[in-house]
Amino acid sequence: MNKVETHNTDTMKPNMAAGASPAMNTTPFTTMAPDVLVIGGGPAGSAVAALLADKGHDVVILEKAHHPRFHIGESLLPMNMPLFDRLGVRKEVEKIGITKYGAEFVSPWHEHTSDFVFAEAMDKAFPYAVHVRRSEFDEILFRHAAKRGARTFEGCRATHVDMDAGGDQRALVKVKADDGSESEWCPRFVIDASGRDTLLAGQFGIKKRHPEHSSAALFGHFTGAKRAEGRREGNISLFWFDHGWFWYIPLLDGTVSVGAVASPAYFKTRKTDPTSFLMETIALAPKLAERLKDATMAEPATATGNFSYTSNYCRGERFAMIGDAYAFVDPMFSSGVFLAMNSAFESATAIDHWLRGEEKMAEQAFRIFEKNMVHGPKMFSWFIFRITSPAIRKIFMKPRNVWRMQEAMLSILAGDIFRNTPVGPRLIGFKFIYYCSCLSILPQAFNTWLWRRRNHKEALINSDME
Ligand SMILES: Cc1cc2nc3c(=O)[nH]c(=O)nc-3n(C[C@H](O)[C@H](O)[C@H](O)COP(=O)(O)OP(=O)(O)OC[C@H]3O[C@@H](n4cnc5c(N)ncnc54)[C@H](O)[C@@H]3O)c2cc1C
Repeated sequence: MNKVETHNTDTMKPNMAAGASPAMNTTPFTTMAPDVLVIGGGPAGSAVAALLADKGHDVVILEKAHHPRFHIGESLLPMNMPLFDRLGVRKEVEKIGITKYGAEFVSPWHEHTSDFVFAEAMDKAFPYAVHVRRSEFDEILFRHAAKRGARTFEGCRATHVDMDAGGDQRALVKVKADDGSESEWCPRFVIDASGRDTLLAGQFGIKKRHPEHSSAALFGHFTGAKRAEGRREGNISLFWFDHGWFWYIPLLDGTVSVGAVASPAYFKTRKTDPTSFLMETIALAPKLAERLKDATMAEPATATGNFSYTSNYCRGERFAMIGDAYAFVDPMFSSGVFLAMNSAFESATAIDHWLRGEEKMAEQAFRIFEKNMVHGPKMFSWFIFRITSPAIRKIFMKPRNVWRMQEAMLSILAGDIFRNTPVGPRLIGFKFIYYCSCLSILPQAFNTWLWRRRNHKEALINSDME
């Protein structure tokens, strides 16, 4: 039912999504030559498709999987919430989520834990986010795109894109469906939202491993884990350990998502199956192990390889790359979904102008899009690269709101990085304190820096050999 029929039919029927109103889906667009073809129905792809369909363009989304499908990345940021408002899905998302008011940092080198609440950020208007099961969340966004008029196809993998071969200034996208049938689409504009598959970046050879950072993850879901009470129940906890850090994300159904993020070099030491290795790794963080002592793993652990990368550019003639299809750094600050959705909003503005032939406005909007694609990951990266350093730990475990620096840090952690909230100067102040703190513990800071460099180099050598 969700498959693209073979080759160049001119009369494809839009996919009628569950719950979609027939009135919304009765679009006059039934050709294989849409205005826009979106590759990937994750948060970035579904959001951009909904926004452009809303503007009256003929939009097609191809998703290689079938929703609901598993995806990691369950913790969202407060600045996701206004994006849900603009998209019109906030109520649906809040219904499947547990409210996250803040974050807790737990260090094996400190007796106390350190709590941050988003309500204390510089702008107090975004006091919470949610944790969600991505299978449910991504399906909401995908079905929403269909409700807004996008034609959605599941079980259809884009296999190759040729930017000039579609004739009449169109691209040509080759697609293979689950049943092996093949088809070709000729959109005016292609949006790559294929996530970590990075279809276009791979095809163009423009994807590069992150020059300063490498990390990998091993994760699973637990039932019967200890949870905080009251308003703190939905907060995320981050546990440091010798090789990196863990996330601890409570979900609405009572389970807790737990993942270890460490250097690829650490994961290379694995001698057991992933589930046993996750349990061995958890044992290295006694405070986390304590919270999980009565818990059971709901399914075998999953590993993801080295995931830090970026691409040389994010747009060109007739295409844009959004979300993880362009870059991904690290899940430390739960920024992935927010950055992916934000890139959907930025690109939609530019692509809408482009489709209307408003060249000057399109160019201006594309420049803003490009700038933000670099700015977003950069803001989080500075913290991410240093999160295992003793100096940062010291600051996070004993935060002080001198010159509103703690508020600014909370604003960044909340994702408030694209508005006019004055976090920039405070971030400079924060960096100054960080470097002073490094000087005060110079030998320790230097050893950590060496250790990080060695791990990163090893990861680069191993990835070259793969
Ligand atoms: C270990 C780990 C933990 C994370 N934790 C968090 C977190 O807590 N919070 C957070 O915000 N982010 C987190 N992230 C990041 C987050 O998962 C991503 O940033 C986010 O999902 C990006 O959204 P996207 O739409 O760009 O890509 P995706 O969500 O990956 O969606 C891409 C979609 O494209 C489809 N697709 C791929 N190739 C093709 C093709 N050729 N044809 C058709 N369809 C295709 C895929 O099936 C998928 O549905 C984490 C990431 C990792 C690796």
